[in-house]
Amino acid sequence: MEKKYLFSPGPTMLPQDIMLKMAEPIIHHREDEYKRIFQEVREGLGYLFQTKSEVLLFTSSGTGAMEGAVCNLLSPGDKALVVRGGKFGERWGEICQVYGIEVKPIDVEWGEAVDPELIAECLKEDPSIRAVFTQATETSTGVMHPIKEIAEITGTCEETVIVVDAITGIGVFDIPTDAWNLDVVVSGSQKALMLPPGLSFIALSEKAWRFVERSKLPKYYFDFKQELKSAEKNQNTFTPAITLVIGLRESLRKIRQEGLEAVFARHDLLARATREAVKALGLELFATESPSNALTAVKVPDEIGANEIKDRFFEEFGITVAGGQDRAKGKIIRIAHLGYYGHLDMIMVISALEMLLKEMGYQFELGAGVRAAEGVLISH
Ligand SMILES: *Cc1c(COP(=O)(O)O)cnc(C)c1O
Repeated sequence: MEKKYLFSPGPTMLPQDIMLKMAEPIIHHREDEYKRIFQEVREGLGYLFQTKSEVLLFTSSGTGAMEGAVCNLLSPGDKALVVRGGKFGERWGEICQVYGIEVKPIDVEWGEAVDPELIAECLKEDPSIRAVFTQATETSTGVMHPIKEIAEITGTCEETVIVVDAITGIGVFDIPTDAWNLDVVVSGSQKALMLPPGLSFIALSEKAWRFVERSKLPKYYFDFKQELKSAEKNQNTFTPAITLVIGLRESLRKIRQEGLEAVFARHDLLARATREAVKALGLELFATESPSNALTAVKVPDEIGANEIKDRFFEEFGITVAGGQDRAKGKIIRIAHLGYYGHLDMIMVISALEMLLKEMGYQFELGAGVRAAEGVLISH
């Protein structure tokens, strides 16, 4: 028998009660039953995103809402500042380019967080920049960018919005959309929301909606104005992933029951336990600053090999961890702890890591990582 575990930063593991809800017979999305479900989902998303604005829902992976953000807010020839500190920052740049947006990249060393001062300088130098695109967590490096500080800067610019890819931020750590003046916040279903892939979410401030009114880029499926009209009638413009929306209602109920603060505290605890364990094993974090509570990216010594250890995780223990992407490929493994994870899940994955490292000839005291993690967990 082989039991399987997902420790990848999307998709993540699913709670059984959510899975069971999604196994019930399908219902029709134009009937009242669906409208009642969607109404509850809309309220729950407002709670999760900490906003009074509508949180739009689309049937797509997270990138769909990212693309929607670009083509609903901007117009041909507009300029955008893009924080590129990893794979997902690069994605913002690629989407912008496809739509003819002039991209001004702010390239950040992989493993580091962007310096908000740089953004302030760029905006001062060129006030015609319409948007700043960034991540809450750059999932390819495990780093958190300072979105609160960036929003303080964009908040002083009447004609510039901040657009945050918070796909591995929402439901992990505090991102108060309204209180921080975040104009656009994007998320997706397969990360902290404990759901399969297939839904994306996006919240827009009043300022962002003014941009939407003026935008001249083409859009059809991801038409925010149309989707807002539908949502106000507890409807979706096109056939939604009904099953996932039903799962989402459960997930939002779960999050509300635990309470956002407790959810954030749990992620913080699991992340600290994981980071301390890794350090106790003599390994280094890939994030040289601001490590995210969503996942821990660990540098793997060359003589062991990140790809080798990632493969062995699966072969020997049925555990999926993520490797590195692009320039981090073969150099790191990424262990996720966002969504449906508890204390002993982290003990398990750290114990597996230790056993693999031992087999592969790495020198350390067996049990050191687990002990460090336990130390963090019981101090709580
Ligand atoms: C997972 C993820 C995405 C979305 O990717 P999809 O495959 O489209 O769901 C985007 N940004 C970040 C930071 C992510 O972690």
